[in-house]
Amino acid sequence: MNSPNVKPRILLFTAKLGYQTRAFDAAAKKLGVELVFVTDRCHRLDDPWHDRATPVRFEAPEEAAYAVTEALSGQHVDGVLALGDRPTLAAAYVARGLGVLHNHPASVEACRSKLRLREVFRDAGLPTPWFRSVPLQAIPEPALMGITYPCVLKPISLSASQGVVRVNNREAFLAGAGRLKRLLESVEIQAAREPNLDRMLVEEYLPGSEVAVEGLLTDGELRVLAILDKPDPLEGPYFEETIYVTPSRFSEAEQESIKKSFVNATRALGLANGPVHGEFRLNEHGVWPIEVAARPIGGLCARALRFQLENEPAPIGLEELLLRHALNLPGKDAPRETAASGVLMIPVPTSGILEKVEGAEEARRVPGVTELEITARWRDYIAAWPEGSSYLGFLFARGETPAEVENALREGHTRLSFRLTPRLPVEHPVTGKV
Ligand code: ADP
Repeated sequence: MNSPNVKPRILLFTAKLGYQTRAFDAAAKKLGVELVFVTDRCHRLDDPWHDRATPVRFEAPEEAAYAVTEALSGQHVDGVLALGDRPTLAAAYVARGLGVLHNHPASVEACRSKLRLREVFRDAGLPTPWFRSVPLQAIPEPALMGITYPCVLKPISLSASQGVVRVNNREAFLAGAGRLKRLLESVEIQAAREPNLDRMLVEEYLPGSEVAVEGLLTDGELRVLAILDKPDPLEGPYFEETIYVTPSRFSEAEQESIKKSFVNATRALGLANGPVHGEFRLNEHGVWPIEVAARPIGGLCARALRFQLENEPAPIGLEELLLRHALNLPGKDAPRETAASGVLMIPVPTSGILEKVEGAEEARRVPGVTELEITARWRDYIAAWPEGSSYLGFLFARGETPAEVENALREGHTRLSFRLTPRLPVEHPVTGKV
């Protein structure tokens, strides 16, 4: 900060303006921080949302760095944060251009490619499944590539388990690869201009339990904010998330191994500052890093994490903790509250148009349930996994113990029902594609 009279300024990179940006806005107001949003929405409109957002193209990070530096024209910037995977690389370039403490773009770029991530982990000697990068245009014979089963097929650059498929034999491999190819060639995916849409990563299927871990890096030192258990088995063939509950019910020793694996993974990647989110599998061979992202936990799930400041009775959200951390303010080390907490990402049972949601009030009345938010829009099409990437909504619970929270989430889920009607196939008038 330049002078005591100048408000600290944080750049917030985000593809979406929604719940999480509002939560950041509220936290910024409380702390007297100026937030500048950097988004990749329409360039031609001049601040259509009247929120001082700077438009950039996330897929062109160097250009974005230039645009943001120009737009700020020499004004001070005290921190850079990115929400969601897509803006992370542009955020790293901008931070580097402005001389703001952040992560090296090469580290962030490695997190954005599932293939590069595996190479980095393998080269650092971390437990890594076998993996191959396989072209999708003409799918090679799996036996000739040394593919064994079960294995997992996945896109290289997408997130939220979109397109991730477990296959158990050659027929399923060929069918899964064809399905992934169609997804990656779809108009929606092509529009995001992600790299590597012409190939997939194939890797060994790792059996075991899975956890998500939220962390915060300061000069390369990792602080684990929460280990979130995933009590539902994630055995495929598709991998949409369901329940996250914290604190973890793994033993102290297992939790230490998870933390150690996260430290090793962030070091291998060279990540140094700010929020990090990791996914790990545990089995009799140890802890396997599945992925690490240079961003906080996604969107609404952040609501499951609250932190206790020493002098304030009410807990603060993850957003406020991240702003305090970025500005090195007191309270940046606040621990998570002691209560158990969890979230259910409400799965999409079948692709279709959302016609009706029933049982919302009943679900909200389940003891322990604190909040239900249906995020899917009425009358909109929503895709089930593996093509899908967004949930019907989010159910939150709190309690004394993780088991209590898990039960409340399961109970709440049983009260909910969704009517989804299949979309009729329509032929595109120009391409003739169905
Ligand atoms: P994304 O970034 O799209 O979430 P991930 O690589 O993290 O992609 O995979 C999504 C999920 O698929 C993981 O959380 C895990 O449950 C499952 N998965 C991915 N790779 C493997 C693997 N090699 N073995 C077992 N499960 C896996």
